[in-house]
Amino acid sequence: CLGTGETDAEPVEYKYVQLVVDITSHAIDKVFTYAIPDELIDKIYVGCPVKVVFGGMKSLRSAYVIDFISEAELDIDKNRIKYIDSVAADELSARTKLISLACWMKEHYGTTMYKALMTVLPVKNKIKAKTFRKVFLKIDKDNIKDCVKELESKKKTAWIRLIKALAENENGLEGGFIRNHLKINLYTLIRMEVEGLIYILEEERSLSLNKTLYGFEEGESDGSKIIHELNIQQKAAVEVFNNDFIKNDFLPEYLLYGITGSGKTEVYIEMIKTVLSKKRQAIVLIPEISLTYQTVRRFVNVFGKRIAIMNSSMSASQRYGQFMLAEKKQADIIIGPRSALFAPFDNIGLIIIDEEHDCAYKNETVPRYDAREVAAKLAKIHNAALVLASATPSVETYKKVLENKIKCLKLTQKAVPGASLSKTHIVDLREELKAGNKSIFSKKLKYMIEEKLSMDEQVMLFMNRRGYSNFVSCRSCGEAIKCKHCDVSLTLHKDGRLRCHYCGYSLAVPDKCPACGSGYIAGFGIGTQQLETITKKMFPQACVLRLDTDTASKKHGAVSIIKDFSEHKADILIGTQMIVKGHDFSNVSLVGIMAADTSLYVGGYNSAEKTFQLLTQAAGRAGRAGQAADVVIQTYRPEHYAVMCAAEQDFERFYKEETAFRKITAYPPMIHILSIQFSSRNEKYVDEFSKYYAECAKKEALKYGAYIIGPAPARIYKVHDFYRKLVYIKHIDYDILLRLKQQLQVYADKHTYAVNVGILYDFE
Ligand code: ADP
Ligand code: ZN
Ligand code: ZN
Repeated sequence: CLGTGETDAEPVEYKYVQLVVDITSHAIDKVFTYAIPDELIDKIYVGCPVKVVFGGMKSLRSAYVIDFISEAELDIDKNRIKYIDSVAADELSARTKLISLACWMKEHYGTTMYKALMTVLPVKNKIKAKTFRKVFLKIDKDNIKDCVKELESKKKTAWIRLIKALAENENGLEGGFIRNHLKINLYTLIRMEVEGLIYILEEERSLSLNKTLYGFEEGESDGSKIIHELNIQQKAAVEVFNNDFIKNDFLPEYLLYGITGSGKTEVYIEMIKTVLSKKRQAIVLIPEISLTYQTVRRFVNVFGKRIAIMNSSMSASQRYGQFMLAEKKQADIIIGPRSALFAPFDNIGLIIIDEEHDCAYKNETVPRYDAREVAAKLAKIHNAALVLASATPSVETYKKVLENKIKCLKLTQKAVPGASLSKTHIVDLREELKAGNKSIFSKKLKYMIEEKLSMDEQVMLFMNRRGYSNFVSCRSCGEAIKCKHCDVSLTLHKDGRLRCHYCGYSLAVPDKCPACGSGYIAGFGIGTQQLETITKKMFPQACVLRLDTDTASKKHGAVSIIKDFSEHKADILIGTQMIVKGHDFSNVSLVGIMAADTSLYVGGYNSAEKTFQLLTQAAGRAGRAGQAADVVIQTYRPEHYAVMCAAEQDFERFYKEETAFRKITAYPPMIHILSIQFSSRNEKYVDEFSKYYAECAKKEALKYGAYIIGPAPARIYKVHDFYRKLVYIKHIDYDILLRLKQQLQVYADKHTYAVNVGILYDFE
């Protein structure tokens, strides 16, 4: 809370709190106000577990304090407010810590308390999970008649139906039966439980993982317990960490900056051993876990059943099951995507973020949190160490290293003895064209693929775009065929349909141009599907696999494709960025990057950074097991610093060029940006509302010297029939942006269209 600005006013006394009540069987969906008894006034804090009287229930309920409020802020009659009964023992400290994290997220990302809680508490998954429920009658048999009478007067027919059915079934009724045959929904059940009429027993369907999700059973080792003796650099990194950790006064943040293949995973494993030896827990974030089964496998080989694993293809109940392993202290390590941060551990010692530069760490739905920021906050709450790791650290992380805000641990050598950095060849596609080669394979790449295939080595081809052609357009009038609901051109897929990659809308390719009626329409540019077709034609002897979101979305697609390729069941793997994410293929000796510049043209101030990271990571896939390896980068802009620095694997130079560029253009991390997106199906609403907002912002910004841009249409103006406009506020000081945001919210709420226009905040 920012205070009122009047410094000599009486200090406000916060004698009330808002809290959430933990009712076993239902989601926390409401905030309640309670008064603090005088004797507890010094003992209550945000996140504090307390006991309260709730509803008609006889026993006390657990609740968590989420905010303090003053008498002036009360919106109900003071006399109706109940007092907190007592402060609960801190047995539930895992939840307490997650709730203080939620409070921070609410402030930081401008979301509601409800959404923040839903994000951090596993309860959310529980309600979605297909939990097996059994319902029993709680009231005495002798009271049934009176109770039914009372309910009749209140016309609660569904309640009566259930009570009568339960009275006849002493062994309880199953949730499914109650829903399907008695037509009573879960909400009603919860209300009845709150009223003390029934009680609900819940059981998770299964806590164990589905073997086919990973290719191995939970906790099952594949026997390959190859333990490497750490090399000098790995040892040094682990030692620095261990020394800090054993001292345990204040644990720092680290960047583990290690080139691809430098053996970062081995270092994580040693760090985690130290953490577990002190009876603390560890979280390992990996960008897309279903694609990194080899990494997970290595952890499982060492730690076995002590690991909980999450991935995006798991069902809600499977995920909840993994969380419960943490809560029941059956697991002390969790590996997963960003949401693994919310595992209910009570004493986290270490959080590792693998490939910290990856954009998957930014949550795309509300609240739009950045897992790296949330991890840093969580680490503070637990006094845990945070290790960010990457071969291509993000510009903002590396800036902090140079400012001595985080400790840098460096691994500059390939871990496998004898392995060296691969040799990079840059091919200028403009020259190829001049020489009359119109194929998407340059002469050099084609020749090298043939050579590697003849030696029975494997090849990876990287193409930044999925689908067949990138768009279909009319050669007479030049119009591209666009999505009906979004402001993007449709992508041609091999099945002959045009698809929108934003909303999924699809359309058979029309035989006439919708704009001018000409029949001369054709595809432009190529995607992974077409690359696959061309590759198969050009190298008929080779077995080709393709990995992109289209093939990965088939059940277990990604895992089996990667497994097959790593077992050398195919010679060439074609794919989008999915194939560059940390896989370890020992027999790959050539990586071809088909069109290095495609990502340079995708908007955003960080497109050069993304390109550099992608190219460096893709290049790092070759030469992992010691054989001579080559990387061919095909490009129209060989002179661009992102391409050149990636070819030389020169991060330091890239960093210098990139920060110079960001300084001139005033972009993060040199300054902070708050972007505010307005959206509505009604174009006029968005238009007027965003204009009004920008004007208010300009007035307010004068006081602080902030800089306002917009309103401007979003890069893709229309998505899913929603029109979207943006206003940007730039300032060096993050706290000022936060304050401005809160003030502007007050203005925004006053506008007539406030209820019609969605607002989305995003800090960069
Ligand atoms: P990174 O994550 O840094 O790209 P990995 O952790 O995947 O690298 O390690 C690359 C390869 O090096 C793996 O096959 C791993 O088993 C091997 N490796 C790791 N440490 C050592 C070591 N000290 N000696 C030999 N091989 C090692
Ligand atoms: Zn669309
Ligand atoms: Zn046309």
